[in-house]
This record gives sequence, structure tokens and C-alpha cells, in this order.
Amino acid sequence: MPIVKKREIENLEQLSGEELQAFIDSLPAGQATISKLLDFVEDELYETECDHSLKRSMRFMMDNRLDFPKLTSWLTENGGYCDCKVMEQIAPIWRAKFGDD
Ligand SMILES: [Zn+2]
Repeated sequence: MPIVKKREIENLEQLSGEELQAFIDSLPAGQATISKLLDFVEDELYETECDHSLKRSMRFMMDNRLDFPKLTSWLTENGGYCDCKVMEQIAPIWRAKFGDD
């Protein structure tokens, strides 16, 4: 059986205290910035369908001068291979932990 690497984001729910702080410190951008990225992508996907790229996420990264390679690999490592997957795989876990704003 192939070994499926557990996505880091899946552990988020269980983290608290120092472990949660370590997770936040290891993020490729600030917690509030990633929340904004998720909101941005969600809004964009209301208007147009996902074309199976990270186009919208990338636009947010560019506009906010974020660390493009690091943030993109963080998204894909956590199942966010394209904008709709970011919303499907990352946003629910993220928002359950950090809230909606
Ligand atoms: Zn997609």
C-alpha cells in the first residue's frame, strides 16, 4: 500500500498552545494574510469557475507581494492544487480553527 503523507493542515484541528504557535510560525505568510487569501479566492470563485489553476491565489500573492514559491508549495502540500481545491481542502479546516474573518 502506498504511504499517503498526512497533510499538515489536517493536524491543525488538534493543535493548541505552543504547538499551534509553532504551526503559525511555520506558515509561509501571516495567519491573517492567509485568511484574507481564502476570502479573496472564495469571492473570485463566485464569479468565475475554477480553471484548475492557482490563478486567483497567485494574483492575491502578487498583489500583496507574498512569498510566491513558498506559499504555493504550502497550498499544494495541503491539497490546494488549484483555487477550488484550496477552498475545499484548506479553507474549512482553517476557518474551523481561526474563524471566518
Ligand atoms: Zn479547481
